[in-house]
Amino acid sequence: MPSDKISAATRRYVATRAKNYCEYCQCPENVSTQSFTVEHIKPRKDGGENIVENLAWSCFGCNSHKHTKTVAINPKTNLQVSLFHPRQQNWTDHFY
Ligand SMILES: [Zn+2]
Repeated sequence: MPSDKISAATRRYVATRAKNYCEYCQCPENVSTQSFTVEHIKPRKDGGENIVENLAWSCFGCNSHKHTKTVAINPKTNLQVSLFHPRQQNWTDHFY
């Protein structure tokens, strides 16, 4: 069974790829009061792997709020929408 532990090298890669910004709220880590972590875009419980394509650099707040969700209800339309996917979507386009 593969390890659940994310290596220090992978953690550094994910942070560097994100330029040390939270990939969800765009907050820079160096001015944040929150800790940052590697977040699984597709949750482990849904089969998400510990591969860099499934990992995002995230502040504690975004990681906690997203948790294992990949969809949410849009409060204006009451329709289910996909949450932002940092590897597949453009941030500006998604949040427009
Ligand atoms: Zn964030």
